[in-house]
Amino acid sequence: MKELKFLEGKKLTVVGYGSQGHAHALNLHDLGMDVTVGLRKGSKSWEKAENSGVKVATIGEAVKGADVIMILAPDESQPELYKSEIEENLKEGAYLGFAHGFNIHYERIIPKKGINVFMVAPKGPGHMVREIFEKGHGVPCLTAVYQDQSGDTQKVANAWANGIGRNVGIIKTTFKEETETDLFGEQAVLCGGVTELMQAGFDTLVEAGYNPEVAYFECVHEMKLIIDMVYEKGFAKMRDSISNTAEYGDYVTGKKIITEKTREVMKDILGDIQNGQFANKFIAETENGYKFMNEERAKYSDSKIEAVGSKMRAMVFKK
Ligand code: NDP
Ligand code: MG
Repeated sequence: MKELKFLEGKKLTVVGYGSQGHAHALNLHDLGMDVTVGLRKGSKSWEKAENSGVKVATIGEAVKGADVIMILAPDESQPELYKSEIEENLKEGAYLGFAHGFNIHYERIIPKKGINVFMVAPKGPGHMVREIFEKGHGVPCLTAVYQDQSGDTQKVANAWANGIGRNVGIIKTTFKEETETDLFGEQAVLCGGVTELMQAGFDTLVEAGYNPEVAYFECVHEMKLIIDMVYEKGFAKMRDSISNTAEYGDYVTGKKIITEKTREVMKDILGDIQNGQFANKFIAETENGYKFMNEERAKYSDSKIEAVGSKMRAMVFKK
């Protein structure tokens, strides 16, 4: 496999065995690489990782002597983890990897001198990184280098990306660009933007007296069908597939929903990401025991849209 030689003969360690961790570890293991998963003592994932054939050790042991270490624990736990278990065990010339630039970009982790620091950020959720790989394809990855002690850190990053993503594609970026665009995309469009849009559409129909089940199909379920077309063929081909009625409605109504005001708000959101305010608020939330997030989770799990949704999914996906 292209450029995989920059990982061959090296001891690779993946810290964490969650969404991304299991995917990186298993994909590289399947390619014959020497992979150890680092987990905390008593970890609930220990047995699961061992049963899938990878070596498992405590984080400190797994980092000691490793040539390439990819940190795939949650972002908010990484600074403490780096200080307590990783830093002192990193050997001179080791390559330390991240899948998101957050901690390096916002200086929550200041990597020690004498090591290399890189990023491989798969453009997809962890379970897709694994599932698509198992089908013989891969997800594209962003790569970046922050510290290049050895002079070949980009090559190691490329090899890691090519390994977990089966050579599908690499886009070179920086820790700053990846962090800021990733946070913006998930907040303004992919997660925050899309869920509120679906919710508002659903609420509008239900409040006007329409059947919630019909509203759910129109405003939530069909989102995937349209997005799949955009994903596979682009906007123009998607508009080719929908009716002329739908296409006309798209042109005249879209700009009433996403107004100049919305675009201004998007600029403010981006500003808060660039000046670090969003990161500070998120860190304060984690230090506060996720109080706000737990309240929001409870609110959504009790909501009408979720109740209707689980009924509709049972119907659509029944075996
Ligand atoms: P997960 O929340 O899935 O990570 C869980 C794993 O981390 C578990 O193995 C868990 O251990 C371990 N872990 C949790 N807390 C600690 C701790 N305090 N000390 C040691 N180990 C701990 O993480 P993700 O896969 O979602 O994210 C990992 C990285 O990948 C992040 O930088 C994220 O931004 C990035 N990323 C994630 C994407 C995704 O799809 N989720 C997409 C692209 C990038 P245990 O098993 O013992 O509980
Ligand atoms: Mg992202």
